[in-house]
Amino acid sequence: MKLTVLGCLGAYPYKQQGTTSYLLQSDDFNLLIDAGSATLVKLQEHLDPLALDAVILSHYHHDHIADLGVLQYYWQLHPEKDPEAVLPIYGHTRDEFHFSELTIPGVSEGHGYFEAEELKIGPFLITFMETIHPVVCYAMRIVEESTGKVLVFTGDSGYLESFASFAKEADLFLADTYLFEGNERHRAHFTSKESGELAKAANVKQLVLTHLPQFGDLEQLKEEAQRAAGADIQVALAAVDKVFEI
Ligand SMILES: [Zn+2]
Ligand SMILES: [Zn+2]
Repeated sequence: MKLTVLGCLGAYPYKQQGTTSYLLQSDDFNLLIDAGSATLVKLQEHLDPLALDAVILSHYHHDHIADLGVLQYYWQLHPEKDPEAVLPIYGHTRDEFHFSELTIPGVSEGHGYFEAEELKIGPFLITFMETIHPVVCYAMRIVEESTGKVLVFTGDSGYLESFASFAKEADLFLADTYLFEGNERHRAHFTSKESGELAKAANVKQLVLTHLPQFGDLEQLKEEAQRAAGADIQVALAAVDKVFEI
């Protein structure tokens, strides 16, 4: 499967870079993971938004859904849209208002996902784990059925030991790393050190730092994570347009 970074800043866009959003592709299936600000213009450089097969959301903070509404308008108003096509949008159901916004008749349809249930979306099998965050948020373990390859996306989360099992042996661990070392046990986000420690505990193959801060030296962030992860784990920074083959 192929992961393309559309946006990887936390909280708000900055200097032409948007917030959390990824395009995950397998065979001909196109899954959008989160829809942060600047998603839609960036997505159009990679794929016709009408070619999306589904959208999945980790949670309903603005930096993860800012472009969802305009994506729905795109599906509603684009002249080439197949009148029969409805875009499935997967989200948790524990926020009634936001979940209800996923559905626009004839345009998009909200589908709930649940922690206890494995979800099949196209070529992917997905399981969920609630994270540590000020609002309800879920991490996703996404398995490509045909190859067994695993992507774990943390969503937004403060340090949570159970990532060691949830992300076990993942081929790529995409981890919210909004904070530099020294801010451990934050209530909303990992620090670089914690991302590295969890990657090591889970024995993942590659750690990709994302939900990046707007300020500070990102090379330092990466070095801190690498130090905690140990030399056996490859650590990379997410960046807009970067593609990871998993
Ligand atoms: Zn966020
Ligand atoms: Zn958040």
